Amino acid sequence: MLDATTRAADWMGLRFNAKKCAALHIDGSKRDSVQTTGFQIQGEPVIPLAEGQAYQHLGTPTGFRVRQTPKDTIQEILQDAAKIDASLLAPWQKINALNTFLIPCISFVLRGSAVAKVPLNKVDKIIQQLVKKWLFLPQRASNELVYVAHRHGGANVPRMGDPRDIAVITHAFRLLTCPNSMVRNIAANALHDATKKRIGRAPSNQDTTTFLSSSLDGEFGMARCDIASLWSCASNATRRLGKRISYRWEWCEERQELGVLVPQIRSDDNTIVTLSARGMLERTLKAAIYSLYMETLKCKPDEGKAFGLTSKWDASNHFLAGGGFTHLADWWFIHRARLNCVPLNGAIRHGNRDKRCRKCGYSNETLHHVLCSCKPHSRAWQLHHNAIQNCLVKAIAPCLGEVAVNTAIPGTDSQLRPDVVVTD
Ligand SMILES: [Zn+2]
Repeated sequence: MLDATTRAADWMGLRFNAKKCAALHIDGSKRDSVQTTGFQIQGEPVIPLAEGQAYQHLGTPTGFRVRQTPKDTIQEILQDAAKIDASLLAPWQKINALNTFLIPCISFVLRGSAVAKVPLNKVDKIIQQLVKKWLFLPQRASNELVYVAHRHGGANVPRMGDPRDIAVITHAFRLLTCPNSMVRNIAANALHDATKKRIGRAPSNQDTTTFLSSSLDGEFGMARCDIASLWSCASNATRRLGKRISYRWEWCEERQELGVLVPQIRSDDNTIVTLSARGMLERTLKAAIYSLYMETLKCKPDEGKAFGLTSKWDASNHFLAGGGFTHLADWWFIHRARLNCVPLNGAIRHGNRDKRCRKCGYSNETLHHVLCSCKPHSRAWQLHHNAIQNCLVKAIAPCLGEVAVNTAIPGTDSQLRPDVVVTD
């Protein structure tokens, strides 16, 4: 293949930089499996990698028995996150910068390498803490709001492991359902071999899907020496995601077809993604994860109470993406208020603290009490009411008629004084 590549490159007038290339030759039948075979490209020798030696491929250390966690790349990303935090950007701009510049970097690194769990969780935690700080939430607030999409009122920052698991599963599925029969057959044979290694006998189609679904039942649970491959990665990703959204791989016997079953949360409906809709898998899995976070937050008796409503319409969350029509003071208040994390006496659940209102002495100082029924704030209610009323009046087109505010209805005896009357 290298000779063919050399011929083609010579013909096209391209030169490979052999100093920047590396070769890795593994012979599985020998004890020292890494061979130091000399390969050549366009007549130049390529450096052979030894066991444990790594080649930096798109930011990811690649090699045989190499720790793949790209520590330096992750460190750089975290340093950039700290710089965004220290910058003078508005909080919604910080979230935007994180989502635009850093998250794609992390996702890219995660797609290319097997990052260990511990450093990944650490990154996740640091990002989470920063986003909560930018949303002006206390650190004890629910993590879900960080992961939920903007249009539902969240920061739209993915949890680090999710894009990686989804990428591995979609990649495996795309190979197995590839329109090109040669690619599809190579993939199917490789999966067949990986399954055979696990159960120690020739597997049926059903067995390969059981293997991909990461079942540990019976013969699938027996510990056998397994070399990491795309298939074992897909199986691991299925286990991690499957625990949360309970999706699985399925083999349809009648149609002789592979599919992925993704259940809908809180309903008996299932989506089965098969060959004919192979492009839909990534979107379906992402949607299932999003709705998992949404449902988890909605089910929280305290923090999820308002979220059920505020997540319903895009218009309630228009300001999350760009901070439009929003003062910093509004931003600092709204996320706390929605999750009921405003530091009020009535919002503290633990301990035996005095819950009385510090203004009027009412027995329970809740957010509802302060906003809607605490008498010393009555002037503020009136101003709030008038501000909304004036906004509406301003929005009424003059051609619709004459607008009257807070007056009796002209031409009637009624004592009522509606807020806004338009007379055509
Ligand atoms: Zn009060």
